[in-house]
Amino acid sequence: MISSPVYNFAAGPGIMPREVLQQAREELLDWRQSGMSVMEMPFTGEAFQAIMQQAQRDLRELLGVPAGYRILFLQGGASAQFSLLPMNLLPPGATADYVDTGHWSRKAIAEGSRYARINVAASGATHDYRRIPAQAAWRPNPGAGYCHITSNETADGLAYHWLPDTGRVPLVADMTSDFLSRPIAVERFGVIYAGAQKNIGPAGLTIVIIRDDLIRPARPETPSAFSYRVQAESGGRFNTPLTYAVYIAGLVFRWLKRQGGLGAIAERNRRKSDRLYAAIDGSDLYACHQRAADRSAMNACFHLADASLTTEFLQQARQQGLLNLHGHPAVGGLRASLYNAMPDAGVDALIAFMRAFAARHA
Ligand code: PLP
Repeated sequence: MISSPVYNFAAGPGIMPREVLQQAREELLDWRQSGMSVMEMPFTGEAFQAIMQQAQRDLRELLGVPAGYRILFLQGGASAQFSLLPMNLLPPGATADYVDTGHWSRKAIAEGSRYARINVAASGATHDYRRIPAQAAWRPNPGAGYCHITSNETADGLAYHWLPDTGRVPLVADMTSDFLSRPIAVERFGVIYAGAQKNIGPAGLTIVIIRDDLIRPARPETPSAFSYRVQAESGGRFNTPLTYAVYIAGLVFRWLKRQGGLGAIAERNRRKSDRLYAAIDGSDLYACHQRAADRSAMNACFHLADASLTTEFLQQARQQGLLNLHGHPAVGGLRASLYNAMPDAGVDALIAFMRAFAARHA
């Protein structure tokens, strides 16, 4: 028996704003007296095109995406982008820089190396993935076609709180787990991509924001549906887009605007994570190894000083309605994901539970 209210700390798919789900439920059968669900609308029709264009405008406004950048709503998740980036951006045999900061950058490197020569410009392995390598220690290749970073390492609990300067080499970021959690200077990037399932909406939808001059003909073997150029030139009509997911993402963008935009949401996110990290650091039972300056505000990774208590911690947390606090299987330990939709009350409940659990095991 799980007590309510329930708070879902899953890393992905993550918690959605309740208001958005409520609105989607109200509109599910008949979208604004159209006689149709959004799921049933022809994607080339006026109604769906209006939904998609509104979502594009709202996202552009929220993030401050400048002119000269395109927003693409694609399918396939962030993992597909690990391959599609080199297929779209690099000729065969070209080199790209990657910075290895943990589980997801290693995945991007492994996939990318099937299509490009990869120079690992820096690796967090030197410090056991407890910090983001300082740029002074990077060894970039001046001829690289792009430099890839993972702005937030979902499994390792690390995030960049600064932006690298890669000069003329386009900076490319996998922002899957911190997209829309804070303002970003889009103009500093060549490409930003993010799977939707943390702060945007249903899994599968993938957002790519790309500077116009990088929209080139993809390698000939690239499926047309995954060519940035084909998708950009067709205005997302090359094939059926993820219509329902785009609609939900649009509701989330609207919700974010009502929250006061990304500055306000970032401030709230920082307060939530500061409180949780303070509770972890203030107890002998919990420990977080990540360097304080590099900790993620989205995914707080920590563990129990006595690891044999982990299962008991997770079981008792679950009974109290605190769900999915286990760490990523590759990393272990505990993880609390504090995406935009996690209310302060969820963080309060988690901290209260952690204190009570620590008191019982003092
Ligand atoms: N990159 C990061 C930072 C992630 O957290 C994830 C998934 O959690 C992925 C990539 C893979 O995303 P997908 O499952 O959409 O392929």
